[in-house]
Amino acid sequence: MNTIGIDVGGTNIKAVLISPTGEILRRASLPTEAQRGRDVVIGIIHRGIELLVGDVATGDLGGIGIGVPGSIDFDHGTVLHPPNLPGWDEVPLVALMEERWKVPVLLDNDANCAALGEANFGAGQEVSHFIGITLGTGVGSGIIINREIYHGARGYAGEFGHASIDYNGPLCACGNRGCIEAYVGNSYLIANAKQRLAAHPESVLYAMATDDATLTPKDISDASAAGDPVATRILYDVGCTLGIAISNAANLMDIPTFIIGGGVSAAGKPLFDGIRETANTRVLKVHRGGIAILPAALGNDAGVMGAASLLA
Ligand SMILES: [Zn+2]
Repeated sequence: MNTIGIDVGGTNIKAVLISPTGEILRRASLPTEAQRGRDVVIGIIHRGIELLVGDVATGDLGGIGIGVPGSIDFDHGTVLHPPNLPGWDEVPLVALMEERWKVPVLLDNDANCAALGEANFGAGQEVSHFIGITLGTGVGSGIIINREIYHGARGYAGEFGHASIDYNGPLCACGNRGCIEAYVGNSYLIANAKQRLAAHPESVLYAMATDDATLTPKDISDASAAGDPVATRILYDVGCTLGIAISNAANLMDIPTFIIGGGVSAAGKPLFDGIRETANTRVLKVHRGGIAILPAALGNDAGVMGAASLLA
């Protein structure tokens, strides 16, 4: 049966209706309006589903999967304290959705959904075990073991972004130091890049190195693609920091495949070179040369497609 996937982001709510083979039959995207509080946001989720099912009876629908940017109480189907959704301290989303739509509803963390989407329909289709990493404002990740999401003892597994690579490193929003997110998360990456660019007047990005100038990851990857060696070095070094964290995860889990997506991953070759070289030289000898770093295949659809396949 067809299923619906919903990705509740801080900015947009995306929804798709997919066939069992992963064909997207219909899609909708609506602004989240997170500042208007939980009831408005839940109303927008319902609206997104209405746009997909239209006049089709929900008897033809296998269920609804929802990815949310926060932790989940799986026993009660409750969303716990999503940082970007004000007023959502503890929301029984499964109960609210099942009451309205009369179909099975499953919830998971958005990064787990993105990894599952890549497993079922994207770059991970041929891979039994991998870690999916999404680079953006934060660093999201999901662990796939035997083609299923690994949740850990209480459902909180997969926080690769808060693996520390330096106990005296930069302060992360979580309170720890040296988390990989504090190097690769968008705002940290840009702050680091500006600091380095300030010492390189030969770079085309030099004028953007001041505190109040706008510099985006795309500016850096565009400059690198145009041949700016400073921009290339910045992206390569970002890749190296990720590669160190990846080598730790590979040693710990014996997982040799990592699928990298999200905005910053569009930086392409220098970033991936840094990740591949570092991960493959820092791991234990048994893994050396065997760590595969694959670009994600589904782009922005990974989360909604993974959510839709939670019911499979
Ligand atoms: Zn952290």
